Amino acid sequence: MTNKLYGGIEGGGTKFICAVGTGPDDIRAQTRVETTTPAETMRQVIDFFKAQEPVAAIGFPCFGPLDPNPNSPTYGHILPTPKPHWSNADVVGMLRAELNVPVAFDTDVNGSALGEWTWGAAQGLNTFIYLTIGTGIGGGAFVEGKLLHGLLHPEMGHIPMPHDFAKDPFEGNCPFHNDCFEGLAAGPAMEKRWGQRAETLPLNHPAWDLEADYIASALTAYAHILSPERIILGGGIGQLEHLLPRIQQKTREKINGYIQSSKIIDEIEQYIVNPGLGSKSGVLGAIALAKNISESKVS
Ligand code: ZN
Repeated sequence: MTNKLYGGIEGGGTKFICAVGTGPDDIRAQTRVETTTPAETMRQVIDFFKAQEPVAAIGFPCFGPLDPNPNSPTYGHILPTPKPHWSNADVVGMLRAELNVPVAFDTDVNGSALGEWTWGAAQGLNTFIYLTIGTGIGGGAFVEGKLLHGLLHPEMGHIPMPHDFAKDPFEGNCPFHNDCFEGLAAGPAMEKRWGQRAETLPLNHPAWDLEADYIASALTAYAHILSPERIILGGGIGQLEHLLPRIQQKTREKINGYIQSSKIIDEIEQYIVNPGLGSKSGVLGAIALAKNISESKVS
């Protein structure tokens, strides 16, 4: 059992990271493949695994939207997406055609959530959320000991936002909803609103107070809906050191004592946290998905 090797594919919009190993202290091989077309990218992914020692399973958290339901006819496909070439690509089918191993396919954020539960900031928890805020916004939910999928998968970045046009006249940039959470608060929205990239905005710029306010509104909604024991904030914006305290404070203010838990009232710094695995939560999440499918098959 303990010497089983696992494969992981962190499928991102700009790159796929492939790895073989058993956990955070034991990654034996890793490579980066550019996200171009499904045929080109998956070819290199498959060739990487063919050149490695055999693995017991492959975990494949991927950008979405995607179909993670093994009973669905389009299981393992990327669903229609504005991203050129990838709509309806049967990425799991491509893997299975050449690699004879079980594949665990899920959203990128569910993968990161499982990685954090296995080795990071969510160890021992039953219900928590992993949220990434960067180029896009997405959330994975682990509820009562299981990853949540539901109809397709949660889309926590696309919830409606309180939007005061007097304070923030930017109309939003989500092609589906304009001023949803992602349309107001992801990196591209910040860049469009302020005319410069988020990471170049000075710490005392009003952008950050507005950003913390939007994020806190979303976290307040999640806290009331799912009653998570912790919320983990990842992604380029989610992991900004100066932003986290503002988000913690504003979320506590918005909840306003209604959720009667000391975790929020007295210990907000442990309630809203950054990933324990840092920037490795993606690739380790992939390994965790593989480990999980492999072990549940045995038991
Ligand atoms: Zn949207």
